[in-house]
Amino acid sequence: MVIALKPQATKDDILRLEEKIRQKGLTPHTIHGAEISVIGCIGNTTHVDSKFFEMDVAVDRVVQVQEAYKLANRAFHPEDTQVDVSGVLIGGGHIGLIAGPCSVESYEQTLEIAKAAKASGANLLRGGAFKPRSSPYAFQGLGLEGLEILCAVREEVGIPIVTELLSPEYVEAFNDKVDLIQIGARNMQNFDLLRQLGQVDRPILLKRGLSATYEEWIMSAEYIMDSGNKNVIFCERGIRTFETYTRNTLDLQSITVIKRNTHLPIIIDPSHAGGKRWLIEPMAKAAIAGDADGLMIEVHSDPETALCDGPQSIVPEDFDILLQQIKAIANVLGKTIG
Ligand code: PEP
Ligand code: MN
Repeated sequence: MVIALKPQATKDDILRLEEKIRQKGLTPHTIHGAEISVIGCIGNTTHVDSKFFEMDVAVDRVVQVQEAYKLANRAFHPEDTQVDVSGVLIGGGHIGLIAGPCSVESYEQTLEIAKAAKASGANLLRGGAFKPRSSPYAFQGLGLEGLEILCAVREEVGIPIVTELLSPEYVEAFNDKVDLIQIGARNMQNFDLLRQLGQVDRPILLKRGLSATYEEWIMSAEYIMDSGNKNVIFCERGIRTFETYTRNTLDLQSITVIKRNTHLPIIIDPSHAGGKRWLIEPMAKAAIAGDADGLMIEVHSDPETALCDGPQSIVPEDFDILLQQIKAIANVLGKTIG
């Protein structure tokens, strides 16, 4: 953090500011210029709000030279983090392929899709049991019954499960039963919920908020990590822009930005990004070619009758063709599936 003083700042102002800096546990390093002076603050500034100095009458502006996040920051952890999801590795050259219906509708429906997805090469099964719907009249998911269905299918097929946690009420149940706990876009800044995730042993899939900046997204991961859980995977699922033709705009640049600034893995969800099934194949391929650590794709045996997100789901046959291509791209990049 660097504090630039106003030209009229006096020696007493500088002494006062240096004392304030020391009070925050930092060491001041003052450079006395001919016109203006600047004070560099040496030390860990993550706990210091720049506004504390900005409001001083002698201060012109404060420049933050260090990112606000420390635990997720690649600068302090240069090697890629590999997250182990019940034996499936994601990150550091390992690709996670998550597939399944938007919502768990029944045991038979989930079982059929899970078997097909696994046979094609998916290594994790998704399925919403608790659904965050925009309308209170829309299907809200089967709740705990849906969770039990996912567990039974995992048992039958032998594939770890990913599902969304909506409320702090079910943290314990999810910690018991879910291999990878998903935090949806709408809860990305539910800080109480994020703090509770520090207490769980399971890794977390953190989706990007509907209009979250990279820093806001990374700070949400920082909340989870600071609470004690270091296993966080980012999931880009598109952001709101002026474009209404697609459901959201898929920000593929996030792969590079997240990997440059953090050491955590990032996967891409082309289903929720585009909202259209014909966008899934090209965007999934672009994501893997662009160094994503995995994909989350909605797959449904009969998208026309799906209770949620049918238009952005592909059928198992198309998923199979897509995965053959994804495996070929991963191969060229020297990456392993799982
Ligand atoms: C989902 O994956 O089921 C979901 C609701 O996604 P998002 O939070 O990205 O909208
Ligand atoms: Mn969905």
